[in-house]
Formats: sequence, structure tokens, C-alpha cells
Amino acid sequence: ANLNEADINDVIKKTLRLVQNMLDISNIETKLNLKEWLPHVLIDEHQIVQVLVNLITNAVHAMTGGGLLFIRSKEGSNNGFVEITVADTGKGIPPEFLPHIFDPFFSTKGDKGTGLGLSVSYGIIKNHKGNIRVESKVGVGTTFTIELPIAHKGD
Ligand code: ADP
Ligand code: MG
Repeated sequence: ANLNEADINDVIKKTLRLVQNMLDISNIETKLNLKEWLPHVLIDEHQIVQVLVNLITNAVHAMTGGGLLFIRSKEGSNNGFVEITVADTGKGIPPEFLPHIFDPFFSTKGDKGTGLGLSVSYGIIKNHKGNIRVESKVGVGTTFTIELPIAHKGD
């Protein structure tokens, strides 16, 4: 990994520029809620963009006919972390699938899914000494939360 200090809000905005066209054609409106003056995180920016693209792409797949995509950044509820949430108003994940969604090759999309997006994302976040977790309600939507460690002088 190629770790550098970065402003997570810039990374989120950069990611959104990459996926904006996909969101537009899928009738998805983005609600951004970015906390100003967050401490910098120590990340491989390219990898974190990949994680965010994976989460947003899954959100798009879950919102057939359109919906809302909420992306938020804030100081972590755990000390030493910045927190990012990606939430959708999609179909949700049945509770019996939740323990498996980060497994390699777990997919409910048949030929259209590789089941690698979340397992790769999980590995990337763990390599960053961060955390990723999910909450979901069928028929309501899904929220992924990522915690990334704050960069310190000398890192
Ligand atoms: P793929 O997208 O190729 O199926 P992923 O690893 O990205 O593989 O996701 C695994 C599975 O987790 C998906 O097939 C889907 O069932 C479920 N999933 C992931 N994100 C969401 C979401 N935002 N809403 C509903 N289901 C989701
Ligand atoms: Mg996927």
C-alpha cells in the first residue's frame, strides 16, 4: 500500500465525480453530509476510492427505480478514527445473508455479480487498520460504516 495523509472529504468528492453518471442514469440523488475540518487519515487513496466505488455500485444495484444515496463523514465515535457512512434506500439485506456478504464470491446477483466487491473492500479496510460494518433492514435500506485511523505526526 502507498499510504499518505489525505482529507477524506476530498476523496469522497473525487469518488462521486467518478460515479456521477451512473447515479444520474439510475435516478439516484446523492445527499452529502461532510464534516468540515476533519483530521487527516492515513490512506492509500486509490484503494479507498475503490472501496467507495464498490459500496456505491452495490447501493445502485439495490435501488432499482432510483432512490437516495447518503454519504456522510464525521469524527469517529471511536477515538482516533474518522467515520464514513454510505447509506441507501434500497431493498436491504435479509438477516440470514448478513453474516456472509463479506465472504469472497458471496453474491445474490447470479451471473451479474462476482461477489468480490465487499471481500476486497474488507481486506483493504483491514489493511488500513480500520473497520467496516453493515446495518440493513429489508425494504428500508442499508448502511455501511467505515472507520479509518487518523494520521499522526511522524506516520
Ligand atoms: P456483488 O456485488 O458482485 O454481488 P459484493 O461483494 O459487492 O458482490 O456484494 C455481495 C452481496 O451483498 C450482493 O450480492 C448483495 O446481495 C449484498 N449487498 C451488498 N451491498 C448491498 C446493498 N447496498 N444493498 C443490498 N444488498 C447488498
Ligand atoms: Mg458489488
